[in-house]
Amino acid sequence: MSYRGRFAPTPSGALHFGSLVAALASFLDARHVGGEWLLRIEDIDPPRCPPGAADTILRQLEAFGLQWDGPVYWQHDRGNAYADALARLESLGLAYPCSCSRKQWRDHAVYPGWCRDGVREPGRPVAWRLRSDLGLRPVRWSDRLFGMQCLDPAALGDVVLKRKDGLWAYQLAVVVDDAEQGISDIVRGADLLDNTPWQRQLQHALGLPTPRYLHLPLVLGPDGQKLSKQNLAPPLPLDEPAVRALLHRALLTLGQAPPPSLATAPVAEQLRWAIAHWRVAGIPHRHDVAPLREPPPGKQ
Ligand code: GLU
Repeated sequence: MSYRGRFAPTPSGALHFGSLVAALASFLDARHVGGEWLLRIEDIDPPRCPPGAADTILRQLEAFGLQWDGPVYWQHDRGNAYADALARLESLGLAYPCSCSRKQWRDHAVYPGWCRDGVREPGRPVAWRLRSDLGLRPVRWSDRLFGMQCLDPAALGDVVLKRKDGLWAYQLAVVVDDAEQGISDIVRGADLLDNTPWQRQLQHALGLPTPRYLHLPLVLGPDGQKLSKQNLAPPLPLDEPAVRALLHRALLTLGQAPPPSLATAPVAEQLRWAIAHWRVAGIPHRHDVAPLREPPPGKQ
């Protein structure tokens, strides 16, 4: 089997414990089978990406021993590839320009597709949307942790592929680049589980291969919410004792049952054990993940 995985953070800030768990799972899943593990920085939205954040992410991954293969892959200069993909979708009748503003359709759960048969307000700036009603439906796939999934992209709405301000949207960029990088396995947080139908639809329309998917239970903070930059999850530390303790804790969170004696062991030793013992079956399902009751060590 040829395995190629990836970690694809958006550099909107430093990595936190939740991102460590996702990066670590993806890394271990690849290394356990002797596969490759690539790093892609998803910096398509410059206003959301403070200067220096991408560098901080690289330093943090290195501190935790999560060494990627090959050069770092950046999305900021991939505009031509995204434009080609959008042109292809348009020629297939699967993408359309849309002048509507969020305010105009605020009484609807998802965008009702008003511009599908022609822009409603010509001359105004347009976003580009996916014809989710005309693509592959329903979308079925077997998630390696969450099992069989069957979702109708049309019920999720005509997702934006290119924004009114000209910036590329995540759904299109991720699909084009996963294919370009030859990714066989996607391991990422369960918050992206319901994005997968659009991505599968785009892969199908563009004739791209289908990767395997493993979505991970989300790490919840003391408030029961997903750990995120928005709820001020502390950035991962870089100092060795704190890194060791947090790596051990991430392995526990992933249900890998590392021996307690490993908690203070050097990063390389912990990773060696974790690569050899990686078990997807050990990963707890979403509802079993205990909230972190106290701040992670090193960040009291
Ligand atoms: N860039 C996305 C994020 O940071 C993850 C993309 C993916 O793994 O598909 O949430």
